[in-house]
Amino acid sequence: MRKRIIAGNWKMYKTAEEAKSFTEEVKGRVPVSGTLEAVICPPALYLSELVQMTKGSALGIGAQTMHDTKEGAFTGEVSPAMLAEIGVGYVVLGHSERRQYFNETDESVNKKVHAAFEYNLTPIVCVGESLEERESGKTVELVAGQVKQAFEGISADSAEKAVIAYEPIWAIGTGKTATAQDANEVCGAIRKTIGELYNEKVADHIRIQYGGSVKPDNIEELLTMEHIDGALVGGASLEPESFLKLLEAGAHE
Ligand code: 13P
Repeated sequence: MRKRIIAGNWKMYKTAEEAKSFTEEVKGRVPVSGTLEAVICPPALYLSELVQMTKGSALGIGAQTMHDTKEGAFTGEVSPAMLAEIGVGYVVLGHSERRQYFNETDESVNKKVHAAFEYNLTPIVCVGESLEERESGKTVELVAGQVKQAFEGISADSAEKAVIAYEPIWAIGTGKTATAQDANEVCGAIRKTIGELYNEKVADHIRIQYGGSVKPDNIEELLTMEHIDGALVGGASLEPESFLKLLEAGAHE
């Protein structure tokens, strides 16, 4: 049985004080469950402090992006070595906002996936289609292509520890969720692609999240789906009570 993973992607929200008070409120209330992994991904500036605050708790900390090399003349960037050193456990890679506004490509995402494994960070690799691509019937082909490129050269042993987040771009921050059936169909296609790239064992172990307007009132149905192993959540992860409701849904057997 795959352990569910519910991650809050805070994007560029919260002051330092707000980040700390959220963490203080949530860290001791994460449902204790063998079926759930809970993660928050705050702005990079707060990572170090939140890692310290959550030590010994069931709340994991992830970064929202990173560079692909250990160090260098890359003004403004944060390296995988730096994240690993301060105790960050996860990193979101290739989010559609990074692809759209910061020129991330399948090739750069692939380099970052390699770097994440090199530094023992669990990558949350984001894939997903635009509305235009969905309407022209290209969703599965496009998403499978993104997955293949992201995992190019990654070993089976590493791949099975990765998390993939299927986030249809048209569902992000719009209030439009893919139906649970549509989301499951694409997540199933992602699992099949992983099976073809590696083997049944990796396909069976890898965890696939859905993301895009996930809220406390729609998460339960999404989580009943065979191929959906959790959620990557933006807006509804920002308030403690809302995030805790998502976690409770994830902790149900
Ligand atoms: P929303 O949950 O706000 O739609 O954001 C989804 C997302 O982009 C998470 O990475």
